[in-house]
Amino acid sequence: MLPKDKSGTTSSKSITSKETIKDSAKNSTEPVESISIQFVKGVGPGLGVVFRNREIHTVKDLLFFFPRTYEDRSQMGSISDLQEGVKATLQVKVLGQRQISIQKLGRNLLEVRCTDDTGILSLKWFHSLRGMEKKFVPGASFSVTGKVKFYMGKPEMVHPEIIWGLALESGPEVEAQFDVGRIVPIYIEIEGVPTRTLRKVLWEALEKYGDRVTEDLPPYLLSRRELPLLAQAVEELHFPPERFAADLSILAQQRSPAHLRLIYGEFFKFEYLMLRKRLNLERVKAPVLELAGLLVPHVEMREDMALKILQLPFELTHGQIHALDDICKDFSSGYPMNRLVQGDVGSGKTAVAFLSAAYLMAGGGQVALMAPTEILAEQHLRNVPKLLGKKINTALLTGKSTSSERQNLQARLLSGEALFVIGTHALLEDSVVFSNLVYVIIDEQHRFGVEQRKILRDKGLKVLKNSDRVLPHSLILTATPIPRTLALTAFGDMQVTAIRDLPPGRSPIMTHVIREKSQRIHAYGQIKSQIKEGRQAYFIYPLINQSEAEGFTQLKSAVAEASRLAEEIFPEFSIGLLHGQMSSQEKEQIMGKFQSGEVQILVSTTVVEVGVDVPNATVMVIEHAERFGLSQLHQLRGRVGRGKFQSYCFLFSAHRENARLEVLAESNDGFKIAEADLEIRGPGEFLGTRQAGSLSFKIGDLVRDQEWLIQARDDAMEILAQ
Ligand code: ADP
Ligand code: MG
Repeated sequence: MLPKDKSGTTSSKSITSKETIKDSAKNSTEPVESISIQFVKGVGPGLGVVFRNREIHTVKDLLFFFPRTYEDRSQMGSISDLQEGVKATLQVKVLGQRQISIQKLGRNLLEVRCTDDTGILSLKWFHSLRGMEKKFVPGASFSVTGKVKFYMGKPEMVHPEIIWGLALESGPEVEAQFDVGRIVPIYIEIEGVPTRTLRKVLWEALEKYGDRVTEDLPPYLLSRRELPLLAQAVEELHFPPERFAADLSILAQQRSPAHLRLIYGEFFKFEYLMLRKRLNLERVKAPVLELAGLLVPHVEMREDMALKILQLPFELTHGQIHALDDICKDFSSGYPMNRLVQGDVGSGKTAVAFLSAAYLMAGGGQVALMAPTEILAEQHLRNVPKLLGKKINTALLTGKSTSSERQNLQARLLSGEALFVIGTHALLEDSVVFSNLVYVIIDEQHRFGVEQRKILRDKGLKVLKNSDRVLPHSLILTATPIPRTLALTAFGDMQVTAIRDLPPGRSPIMTHVIREKSQRIHAYGQIKSQIKEGRQAYFIYPLINQSEAEGFTQLKSAVAEASRLAEEIFPEFSIGLLHGQMSSQEKEQIMGKFQSGEVQILVSTTVVEVGVDVPNATVMVIEHAERFGLSQLHQLRGRVGRGKFQSYCFLFSAHRENARLEVLAESNDGFKIAEADLEIRGPGEFLGTRQAGSLSFKIGDLVRDQEWLIQARDDAMEILAQ
């Protein structure tokens, strides 16, 4: 197969006649993935090694080595129209040549003068051409591509690309239809192999094997999405059709149908595998419970399996009800749930988790809730009686649980007496064994890896007599709003529910980015008046103490700043310090004092980032805000605005480098912020770099190609459903 859509002025006859059928006939059915690159014309042993070093072994590998960019050589310029600094391709004849010795360089300069009947162009080389100069005899014709420079009023090109023969006329002497008279591909230079050599090799490979690229997607899906078949797309990626000459940026931005075909294909395969993984999980069974007793006074099971919630201290929001509905549907599906609930900070995910847990506990199942910090685990424990009443047999397990506490807990777990176990990583230890674990809840998931999730879940794995495998339901709560694309990729094997509303009566947090000293003083004044009104404030710093900050000594540290604030700025208030290197006892003590209002200003590192709930706190100050990701800042900000009072967030940053922080001042919508963050910082911000690494698509881009990701997902789902 050949690139057929060529410059109208180029005859394709010569190419067809050039086809060497000799050895292609004998393996004419072999697919490109099983043909060695050695069979491609122009790939000698030397080039073969270069390719293999880049993991290009087969013709398929070669065909999927795509150009870096393109150059439009479809129109021949004329010498009279040349412009300074602009790259041009011309068809010319040699007038003459001369060697000029340059003493400074100790070698010769070759100058070739040529013409196209509209003017005279001079070509210059400062290095040897390995005898090529012998070909520049007067009258010889060639095409030349290069950047134009005017020297003493006359046009010249230094080290231009030369292609012998008259490309615009047909005939066997034409050397290179792939080099001129069309849009040509530019490849990255590999180990000094020039782009022109690669271009020629790719042309040969396409010519001989291009039609053996096997289609890997159902053609009807492609026609639905108006995308070309793979073979055509591959060909057009190397040698794009003439029509793109009008707007080369479509190619440069990877928006041509050929590019989109590959992007779509890449996403489709990914989604297909993800979704299949999810379907495989459906071969595993969910635990069966006799939902008999009415254990929790607020929760009553209705016949349709939905929850009826009674006597909660508040009315559930639409988002919470919606999430509970989704969860109950999962519970009744017979398969283990695998659901992610994403909800902005303060959206009330805890209530969703607890009420759904109560539902299963009512049937005698055990529920494990894992939180990333002790502070959070303890906060959850305190919430149990508030939300579920006092009857639930609850246990706490954290790193600081003593060994006798552990023994006691273990006995209660094995006897089935303890139903609700709340804890930290300590829950993952081998010694923690359940008698009937049916539900695993993980709070603030991005602190935990996939592996840890699995360890906890497998503690409830059972193999029944009929060899059915049973796994607990799993719920993941995250305050990091996950952009849609990541929900479809990194979390593609999960169902996702978003809680998009906040409990009523919360006014949006007013956020200010503070860059000037005068603004800072003004902000301190505002903070003072808030605290005088009885409110409380957080001050967050990126570091614990100065010594941590080698190379960043100007960074304010929590320890140093706590004393500065106490002595110089807010001497009239009580200030507490919290950071990750304190013992959990110390942390707990300080947190308790802040919660009770005894401490008015809490100076802290990001340990308060997740989950801490102090509704009376209305001020969040973040120093060196530029050091944090937008989503992380948004989470920190979410520590305030949890009560009935107007809350404020001050982002201090001496950097004026970008307007990133202003996104936060303008929006309280975590989803919007997350999208902006994904655009600016990539998926690592959400997943941690290790997990994000597995999301590196070769050609697709999670931000740019969202639409295609969603289409690919829909189509993969359709195929799997069949
Ligand atoms: P997050 O989603 O950040 O984990 P929490 O579950 O900690 O949020 O809830 C934040 C606060 O809002 C808690 O004090 C909680 O009691 C309260 N809350 C939750 N749901 C509602 C509701 N529907 N109406 C009023 N307050 C609610
Ligand atoms: Mg929470």
